[in-house]
Order: sequence, then C-alpha cells, then structure tokens
Amino acid sequence: MINRDEMLQIDLCNGQVRVMLCETTETVQQCADIHETTPVCTAALGRLMTGTLMLGIMMKGDDESVTVTLKGDGPMGSLVAVADHGDVRACADYPQIDIPLREDGKLDVGGAVGHTGRMSVIKDLGMKKNYIGQSELVSGEIAMDFANYFTVSEQQPSLVALGVLVNGTTVLKAGGLLIQPLPGCPDEIIDQLELRSPMFADISREMTFASIEQLCIDWFRGMEPRILERTPLRYRCTCSRERMEKALISLGRKDLQSLIDDDKGAELICHFCRNKYKFTTEQLKDLLAVSGKGRNT
Ligand SMILES: [Zn+2]
Repeated sequence: MINRDEMLQIDLCNGQVRVMLCETTETVQQCADIHETTPVCTAALGRLMTGTLMLGIMMKGDDESVTVTLKGDGPMGSLVAVADHGDVRACADYPQIDIPLREDGKLDVGGAVGHTGRMSVIKDLGMKKNYIGQSELVSGEIAMDFANYFTVSEQQPSLVALGVLVNGTTVLKAGGLLIQPLPGCPDEIIDQLELRSPMFADISREMTFASIEQLCIDWFRGMEPRILERTPLRYRCTCSRERMEKALISLGRKDLQSLIDDDKGAELICHFCRNKYKFTTEQLKDLLAVSGKGRNT
C-alpha cells in the first residue's frame, strides 16, 4: 500500500492562527500490526502517535525528539510514543486488552487508558537541557488531554481533534487536527473557529469522504488557509544491535555475569518494533570485557 501519511502545516488569517492537519492511517496500521492490538488499543495508540507527531513536527533541531507518556489507571497500563520530526514509534504495557464499547457505540479509549492519571511530555533538545512538561489526564480520550497539556503546560490555548477509525484489524482512516490562535489573534477569529469546531469532531470519519487538502479548504473557507509545509509521516523504530548492547552493559557486571553463567545466551525484544536481538554466551563475555574497561574492579 502506498503511504500517503503526511502532516500539513497551515496558517489562517494571515498567520494569526497556526494549524496542523495530518493523515496517519498507514502509520497507525503499522503500529497495530506490530503490537497485534485490539481495536480499542489501536485507537488509543493511534491517537497518541498522531498527537505526538504534532509535537515532533514543532521540534526544530535535527537531533531533537519528543516522548509523550500517558500513565492512566486503565487496563492498558502506560502508553508511550516517541516522535522525531515525521517519524514516530509507540508501545503500551498491555496493547491487547479489550473492553466493551461505550453506550454510544464508540470505542472506549478513555476506559482503556483510564480517566485519571498523568500525561508527561519530554522534549529531548539534543545538546541542550531537556524540557519536561506534566499535566493531569482530563478524560483519557487523548485529544482533550493534549489540548489540556498545551493550555496548562505551554500556555497555548489549543483545539485538538484526533481520530482513528478501525474495523477489526484494519485501520480505515486515522488523522488529527491542531488549531492554535497565536498571541494577539482577534476574538472574532477565535469565535469563528469555535463555531466551526463541530465539523472537526469526527475527523477520521470526515477523512473517509475527503482528502486532508480538501478538508482544509472546506473547513477554513474564508479564512485564507495557506499550506506552508508538508512532511511525510511514518512508523519508524530507531533500535539497533549497538543500542541493545548498551542496554545489556547497563545491566551491570553482576547481572551480565549471571547471564553468562546460565549459558543460555540472551534475547532482547524491542518494545517499539518487536525486533529480536539474540546474544550468545560468547558475545555476552565480550560485552562483559568491554564493560570492565576503564574501571578498577
Ligand atoms: Zn525497535
């Protein structure tokens, strides 16, 4: 399947409003395939990845990335997504749990994530100090939680819509919208956007009828929408054998030695892409030797 996932960065009303509008269908499908998620978990991870990509796109430096963690009291446990620019990866403690639909027939994402808990955003700014923002979960439905994060932690009022339309193991459509009136934006424009907000509410369903370019034209008619930048989006993990070696070394000499004594080798599975990395006892001995360098013991 051709990957059409992309983020449009748009401005309205001569730069007084910043908008991000994206499709993430293929990205969410890949995540669902890797983690073999149930529909409700596909929706939860898909919404989280889509929101995290919006933060990822805002990062300017090449070596910068953003990690968003949701720790709610629901049965999915913790959910984590990491984005650097247009690349994203995600995982959850329990991505295969299932719960009944809500009374309105929709997937109960808030029930799976939990209605109370915390959302944390860590921006890895490369050489500079990391930025850490925290906010309370407001619903566990994720879009509202992102909107609350922007308002509380970044003092940036925002309207956020995130949607994933799933049928069994197939992701039909996924995408998101972020609207941020910039400082000095007149009240009339904000009122206009609020009046139009019901149009954005069911974004993934709207996307089954029109492309995101068309939605941009329809939704923001009369507000001079201009597409400033387009970024391709994809699910991509950054794990490698070297990273897994470092993880093994960081276990410490004692634990490494006991793995060697067991003589069964070691197998590490990446949380984000489920790739397996195997190490023989001989290779573990080499790592132990490396880990000893530069130390007295
Ligand atoms: Zn990986």
